[in-house]
Amino acid sequence: MTMTVLVNAGPWLAVPPAGYGGIENVVAALVPELRRRGIRVLLATVGSSTLPVEQRISVFPDGQFAELQRPYNQVMGVAAAHLHRVVREVRRAGGAIDLVHDHQEAFGPTVLSALGPPAPPVLHTLHWDLSKHPALYSNIDGGGGLWVNGVSFAQLSTAPRALRALSVGHVHLATPLAVQAHRRPQHAKRGHLIVLGRITRYKGQHVAARLAHRTGRDLVLAGPVGPFHSPGRLAAAERGEANPDVRYWREEVAPLVDGGRVRWVGTVCGEDRDELVGSARASLFPIDWEEPGGTAVVESLALGTPVVGFRRGCLPELVEDGRTGLLVDPGDEDALADATGRVAALDPGVCRQEAARRFTPARMAERYIRLYERVLARRGRR
Ligand code: UDP
Repeated sequence: MTMTVLVNAGPWLAVPPAGYGGIENVVAALVPELRRRGIRVLLATVGSSTLPVEQRISVFPDGQFAELQRPYNQVMGVAAAHLHRVVREVRRAGGAIDLVHDHQEAFGPTVLSALGPPAPPVLHTLHWDLSKHPALYSNIDGGGGLWVNGVSFAQLSTAPRALRALSVGHVHLATPLAVQAHRRPQHAKRGHLIVLGRITRYKGQHVAARLAHRTGRDLVLAGPVGPFHSPGRLAAAERGEANPDVRYWREEVAPLVDGGRVRWVGTVCGEDRDELVGSARASLFPIDWEEPGGTAVVESLALGTPVVGFRRGCLPELVEDGRTGLLVDPGDEDALADATGRVAALDPGVCRQEAARRFTPARMAERYIRLYERVLARRGRR
């Protein structure tokens, strides 16, 4: 298919990201597969991104992730500056861009879709739990050629009606780790539990830590606390921090972290991340939100580590209960603890096989191309 797509990855992190970065990891998995299928890609990102594309556009030299902790108007200033660059590019192209595939949340989709002809239609991928953030898209207006897709069926079904009306479907997330995952050697299991992801109440690290103490199993927490990627950085900057994730860490997680049974290792990257996840007994998801797409879920399966978590959000779509993981009723910590015992009976090979079958970037790209075609076909029908 010959088509030019402007993929907007937003201004927050490089693509691929150096460590944490769910959205950026997904863009990094998708774009090479689009290009392999003949699609020309313009990537709106930050200067430090290294993903090969036909053309890169950016305002900021580096990811602005740390700016997310600043007051709302400053955050919006960063988002708007990046978006303005995207808008300029769309105008400059004068019809040469067939479609914008947008991953930048909040007001971006509406702005892009209001450009008028010859602006291309916009497919915006939803990345958040929209039942928890209904205000994020309160300004949504599909009149100008805006469509959305979810990253799970569950995400769309709990989204506000106005968003669902613009939906052209859902596409599960993917990971390059899934490619030939069933043929790759399994990391030797070391028996610890792991929670990989932002340290935030949504991901339930405090529940995981309680469970570790109660069951006597080792737990590793990996991921940033707010903008802080290591215990040292956080300790140096903690005073006066108003960030809710930092507060969550300080009040509810840190008291349970003893450096032995429960450890926080900060943000982990590349091989270290894969080894830490692949050698774990299970990845825990004691989530306190409707997990929208769960990049860390599909990564865990691809690394042969079953998932133990609460049955909500995208988890029942991604995890086969009793085969690639164990899902229990949300909030039932007794059942969760019991599941961390039973999970050893599951076969890591089956997890890797299922990931290779369902969560490869090629499969994700093919689904997105179908959505692109759907959007282009519907264009002008409103
Ligand atoms: N991640 C990482 N290192 C860390 C923590 C997370 O590389 O220390 C990556 C993880 O592998 C995944 C992404 O960051 O690709 C998190 O994505 P997910 O969708 O699970 O979480 P969210 O986007 O909701 O924060």
